[in-house]
Amino acid sequence: MPLQYDLHCHSTASDGTLGPDALVERAAARGVDVLALTDHDTTAGLTVARAAAERCGIELVNGIEVSVTWSHQTVHIVGLHIDPGNQALQAGLKRLGAFRKWRGEEIARRLEKAGIAGAHAGALALAGGEVLSRTHFAHFLVQAGHAPDVRRVFKRFLVSGKPGHVPGEWAGLEEAVGWINGAGGQAVIAHPARYRISAGRRRALFGEFRECGGAGIEVVSGSHSAEDARAMAELTRQFELLASRGSDYHGPPSPYVELGKLAPLPDGCRPIWETWADGARQHPVQ
Ligand code: AMP
Ligand code: MN
Ligand code: MN
Ligand code: MN
Repeated sequence: MPLQYDLHCHSTASDGTLGPDALVERAAARGVDVLALTDHDTTAGLTVARAAAERCGIELVNGIEVSVTWSHQTVHIVGLHIDPGNQALQAGLKRLGAFRKWRGEEIARRLEKAGIAGAHAGALALAGGEVLSRTHFAHFLVQAGHAPDVRRVFKRFLVSGKPGHVPGEWAGLEEAVGWINGAGGQAVIAHPARYRISAGRRRALFGEFRECGGAGIEVVSGSHSAEDARAMAELTRQFELLASRGSDYHGPPSPYVELGKLAPLPDGCRPIWETWADGARQHPVQ
């Protein structure tokens, strides 16, 4: 049996609903052999996840999902095999954390104007870690009865043009790739088929990403269709990028695919783990 890789998921350190230990245990129980914990803009869950991975006998890859603003669009860049002790990386994440904190207050102010009180305290109470995410606001709004489910809450309140939307001011693309590479990792564009951008702009993004030292893209993702995966596999060939695979699991009730249920990479793309030494388990060969 080939090793099962899941190189994208979230814990309570950001907007997942399982603690890093419970997440790793669930991955192990569902047949994942190599798991990357990639919380949004934080590495805070990695220590607990590593201890759990050692107990369960699976490999943990130190990961991150960095929020980026590229050409007025929010784009997510996954870092794999990063050194969480890297100072430039942590300084960058600290800046994103400060923006997140302000943004959380601003989202609540805007919701208040739309007649929804108590959103900041409500979202904060649902955030397990330092990262206050739109997901926490979404769960608060569902619980307070403003929409029937998380998907509809995003559509009604939290996306561009809606009352609780605040435009992102995240890291630059080159900057985020620089933090990841500087911390000894490999940068991967998360769920590239999910962005609502034209095919031409997607190609421009891939080109720029490659130019500034990006390594790969997620070909198989919990938020991609089989057709998306085939299209992204073709783009890895055109742009000479490596292919990654990740569920983007956020814990139950996740709108994405369950751990261990992800489709394999399609033929004709090069798995990013083939560049890793020692049976695909260690840091990238530099
Ligand atoms: P943030 O980084 O705080 O802006 O939050 C982004 C997170 O919100 C993503 O990582 C997803 O987990 C979640 N999210 C974004 N859009 C949606 C959506 N339409 N439905 C459900 N979750 C979403
Ligand atoms: Mn998320
Ligand atoms: Mn993402
Ligand atoms: Mn994610």
